[in-house]
Amino acid sequence: MVFDYSTLPREFKRQYLRQDLKFEWDDLNRVYEELGKRPLGSEADLERWLLDEAEFDAYLYEQRAIRYFNSTRQTDNPEYTKAYEEYTELLEPKIKLASFNLLQRYVASQFRGQLPRKVYGLEDRRRKSAASIFRSENVELEKEESDLSQMYYRTTGAMTVEFQGQERTMQQMSKFYEAPDRALREEAWRLSSQRALTDSERLDTVYTEMVSLRDKIARNAGFDNYRDYTFVKKDRFDYTPDDCEDFHRGVEEAIVPLSRNIDRARAERMRVEVLRPWDMQVDPAGREALRPFDQVPSLVSGARKVMANVDTELSSYFERMVELQLLDLDSRKGKAPGGYQEELAEVRLPLIFMNAVGKDDDVRTLLHECGHSFHTFLMRKAMLPFFNGGANMPNEFSEVASMSMEMITGEHYEGVFYDRDDAKRSNWKEVVDNVKLFTWVATIDAFQHWVYTHPVHTKDERAKAWVAVFNRFCGLESYEGLESNRAYRWQRQLHLFEVPFYYIEYGIALTGALGVWSRYRKDPKDAIESYKSALSFGCARSLPELFEAAGVEWGFGPATLRRIAGELRSAIKEYAD
Ligand SMILES: [Zn+2]
Repeated sequence: MVFDYSTLPREFKRQYLRQDLKFEWDDLNRVYEELGKRPLGSEADLERWLLDEAEFDAYLYEQRAIRYFNSTRQTDNPEYTKAYEEYTELLEPKIKLASFNLLQRYVASQFRGQLPRKVYGLEDRRRKSAASIFRSENVELEKEESDLSQMYYRTTGAMTVEFQGQERTMQQMSKFYEAPDRALREEAWRLSSQRALTDSERLDTVYTEMVSLRDKIARNAGFDNYRDYTFVKKDRFDYTPDDCEDFHRGVEEAIVPLSRNIDRARAERMRVEVLRPWDMQVDPAGREALRPFDQVPSLVSGARKVMANVDTELSSYFERMVELQLLDLDSRKGKAPGGYQEELAEVRLPLIFMNAVGKDDDVRTLLHECGHSFHTFLMRKAMLPFFNGGANMPNEFSEVASMSMEMITGEHYEGVFYDRDDAKRSNWKEVVDNVKLFTWVATIDAFQHWVYTHPVHTKDERAKAWVAVFNRFCGLESYEGLESNRAYRWQRQLHLFEVPFYYIEYGIALTGALGVWSRYRKDPKDAIESYKSALSFGCARSLPELFEAAGVEWGFGPATLRRIAGELRSAIKEYAD
């Protein structure tokens, strides 16, 4: 199936770019040159210039998204792979440098301070900060970094094992961890973990190179370490490394005890003395995995019914996606694993990609990605004057849009995907997963804080630091006799390699999403109205302002986590009864 972008409605006409613009360097460069030399003699000139640049940014973002989407839809189509590689290898470095020239032009403009602050204030701050850390010598280092990323993908992507007479990927093996048969789970777990261990040294070396490269990037930009550089690079204006350490402490004090209580109840229910790593994902009552749907069409019709119960406007957005075929949901040979929402920024429409096979998780994933899509639709409605997608959008808030939708829709599963008991079972699992997510976010984040503030360390020191962090936040599963598997467990977390320091965002967003969900349970109408108004601000507001618009408290320290732990505890009890 070929997806035809040319049939999508173009409701936002180009004001600036030529209709026949090609995604090739000569054409792009002409646009950069025009924006680079056009006279900017007044505030009105600057505002016009920003609008034109935004149109160009949206075009660039959409062209990249189309190539990425194609290459993940058909990994076995060499043409698509080549098109995406050509983009990252040849175009992207040039785009980065040329965009920096525009950035410098903007920062140097004397009319910058006269732009309306309410609209441009935060964007102005972002640009000033980006300009201050840009170093052209880092462009080459970032390319090296992305080559190392490719090495990580190639190594982990090639990991397969022979199980039950078939060659299987690590992702395919994970479904056996939900099997009621304990011996089968153990066999599957040991086999996959041993396979991963055979590449542990290679991945260790890749990571060591990445850490020293990143440290160099930070030092080039005038920072002491990559952690401090990242806080500026990721526009973390509203919190500091100390706040992250507060989050770690809050998780340790309030969430870890809850997580261990859940494990204690699990062990009792499973009638095992000691939990092992392969016991953590199975249904503790020994029931078969939930089967909410058979085929993708019934997933779609179920999601439709659920959305119709949540809100008319949001539901109409979902209908629009179905009608325009913006959903690629089924699992096919040659399709990349995982799920994501991507924005086609010029037509201002969202795409959803996932691999549905009939699991409870698939329903959650679709409704999660729907939350991201609603963000795209609501920003489009607000007609924001500069490009709000991509890296500009703070994940600390965009994940509130998706995670809260994932939880809110769970309130309407009964009679659609499940009967009453199974709906409760699915919601119980969602709440438990969120408890575990808090502990895992703290683990991954605390580990990265250690790694990048100790850039010179041996592999043994790193393994030791990892185990210490792991033990601080872990559940009750015992790794006795599996110590080396535990020591390299971090290598399975692709974010550490691919998108350093991107993880705390999930923890921050989860505090907000739980707040929206708990409001929804009390007053659905009011909660949805605030949700929609917060999403329509795009990234023109600070994180505290976005949280406030959504009607939830901003803050992720011990006090907030204690309150949340109480709410989670009672939800678990409610769903378990
Ligand atoms: Zn998401």
